[in-house]
Amino acid sequence: IKIMKAAIITIGDELLIGQTIDTNSAWMGAELSKAGFDVYRITSIHDRREDIIYTLNEAAGKTDVVLITGGLGPTSDDITKQTLCEFFNTRLVLNTEVLKMIETMMKQRNFTMNENNRRQAEVPESCRVLKNATGTAPGMWFEQDGTIYISMPGVPHEMMYLMTELVLPELNKRFTSQIIIHRNIMTYGTFESKLAEILIGFEADLPENIKLAYLPASGVIKLRLTGTGSQHKSLEKMITDQVNKLYKIIPEFIYGENEESLEMVIGRLLKANNKTVCTAESCTGGEIAHMITGVSGSSDYYKGSVVAYANSVKTQLLGVHEDRIKKYGAVSEEVVRDLALAARKLLNTDFAVATSGIAGPNGGTETKPVGTLWMAVASEKGIVSETRVFGNDRINNIKRFSLAALNLLRKQIINF
Ligand code: AMP
Ligand code: MG
Repeated sequence: IKIMKAAIITIGDELLIGQTIDTNSAWMGAELSKAGFDVYRITSIHDRREDIIYTLNEAAGKTDVVLITGGLGPTSDDITKQTLCEFFNTRLVLNTEVLKMIETMMKQRNFTMNENNRRQAEVPESCRVLKNATGTAPGMWFEQDGTIYISMPGVPHEMMYLMTELVLPELNKRFTSQIIIHRNIMTYGTFESKLAEILIGFEADLPENIKLAYLPASGVIKLRLTGTGSQHKSLEKMITDQVNKLYKIIPEFIYGENEESLEMVIGRLLKANNKTVCTAESCTGGEIAHMITGVSGSSDYYKGSVVAYANSVKTQLLGVHEDRIKKYGAVSEEVVRDLALAARKLLNTDFAVATSGIAGPNGGTETKPVGTLWMAVASEKGIVSETRVFGNDRINNIKRFSLAALNLLRKQIINF
């Protein structure tokens, strides 16, 4: 199969100075790759004639489709249209249909037309106009020397409208493309390098048309399998076979699939088992509660948290004995178990998660360095506790502590 190549060009000064994040490229890249295109380059450039011409010339010839956004506004800083005229050796002409659309739109919004609005109805003579029902700047479709160029407004929802309604359906019709399927396996509890070592054999045995990618993001490593082929059903089966293999090789690390977070999985498991949970958080300061409640429907299984940051809260609110804290320290297996047990009783839940640790950057000792975490989960079956040592960065540590505690909870629910 011939793989169709696509390039994306986003135009706008704001993109280069970090004022606007280029979300258009990410969205278009996802859509194009779903449609079977190989997006081989994304370029962001200034609203500058020479840069636009240079980038278009770079894409010309070696690309089947070039998607362009930005620079179509009515003000003088937007120069994409004029520059496209230069590139395609054509001129701006008034399009009466577009003019009518703009007039109607302005009337509906109770605005009066001005010269700037009228200029938006001018389009390069050689393009096909893509009517934009969501704004005043139309899209433009050009073809030259076997390459398609599509220029769209920079406003994300206008671009998305043109892409979904007009551009993608036509591209799909024109290019009977190969099929690309992605499957994401979510893992927690190990390092990328370690995982890669375990999976050496798995990777070597992968069929030619299936690729494995490691996508780590603060503690969670996403394993993405990407398959390419011509037939959906057989490709789907090939990928499923590989996924099943992964479940056999690394069962202890896989917690879910396709963008699921640990807190989502926990929600799903608790709901399915009709169980509830609460938290007693010292070092994580409510982060676990925040993560759990970020999942819609969490009120079904989450009761609440005691942010037991100060020792006085640990003792007065949760009834941890002062002499235990004195003897073992607040960051200790003994105290974190006490916290979990007390929270479970106080908030009357099936499970309780507790954390106590040293988030840093200060407060570490010889035996308990910065990054030390003690965590515990209490349930009907008793209490389990574990310790971990992470890094020096406070915010990062709080995030990692929380993930670790959530994973400990997940394992307890599964084993219930
Ligand atoms: P323009 O078509 O250049 O007038 O763009 C209009 C507005 O859309 C800009 O002010 C930005 O806020 C937004 N925008 C432009 N390009 C992008 C992009 N690549 N990603 C996200 N937003 C964008
Ligand atoms: Mg602009």
